[in-house]
Amino acid sequence: MASRPHGLQSPDFPLGSTCRATTTLQGMTVHRRPFVGGNWKMNTDLASGVELAQRLATSMREIVLHSDVVVFPPSPYLHSVGKALGISGIGLGAQDVSAEANGAHTGEVSCEMLLDLGCTHVIVGHSERRHGRGESDELVGAKTQIALASGLTCVLCVGETGAERKAGLAHEVTGRQLRVGLHGIELGALEGLVIAYEPVWAIGTGVSATVSDAAEAHREIRRQLSLLYNAELAARTRIIYGGSCTPGNVQSLLSQPGVDGGLIGGASLQAEAFLAIGQFAGEQGRRAAGSAT
Ligand code: PEP
Repeated sequence: MASRPHGLQSPDFPLGSTCRATTTLQGMTVHRRPFVGGNWKMNTDLASGVELAQRLATSMREIVLHSDVVVFPPSPYLHSVGKALGISGIGLGAQDVSAEANGAHTGEVSCEMLLDLGCTHVIVGHSERRHGRGESDELVGAKTQIALASGLTCVLCVGETGAERKAGLAHEVTGRQLRVGLHGIELGALEGLVIAYEPVWAIGTGVSATVSDAAEAHREIRRQLSLLYNAELAARTRIIYGGSCTPGNVQSLLSQPGVDGGLIGGASLQAEAFLAIGQFAGEQGRRAAGSAT
């Protein structure tokens, strides 16, 4: 683990916020560009995936000027969806990647292969892989490391189960997932890191975290990042929320201090819903950029 340089403190975040995706650090305002990801999971077929991408490509042109927007289709459709996105400015990401660079690993897909397909992003450590496929914190860490080293922007998912939350272990779990997930990764390699706070009990359930729970979890994750690295890294790293985010609750969730966007599952499969979520993030990004000038 990289050490904490420059004697910066490990403050409780936010240090002072003037807008939602903003932190004031040692007198300087750090703006974080909003990030909205659509995790399509194992949904769509080729035709409907391409059609969804085409609709987003034409309707989100304004939004991508002020917010990162990325779609994560099923791997077999990456190439076709990437072509449909064209030069829209919407990023293309994979839902998972191998921890291995190449070789005899049947069924695995490497970072280089994703880059060949035009991917810019990858999700690692989604709860459906941690809990559904038994991926350990260490494996997620190896994937994070190889993804960042390859130049992909890596969306590292962390989050507690319902039982862990009830037992009062939420912060401990996200702290461990971050510590092991980032183990051995130097500070300089973290430019392309995005953290997704995804409480497992909120994913695909229709029950999102309360806004205060989400804000508290994001504050704690930022504090943990500060302890693992330094306050500057913590202030500039985007931490997005995922778990039953919809057009109906996006405003309240993404308006929380330190919530820099969303990773959207179910609602990303409907163009109108994903567009509405993107519009809110884009508006936040536009306002933040305006207040910076
Ligand atoms: C997800 O899978 O990352 C997710 C947040 O799903 P949903 O929005 O459907 O809860």
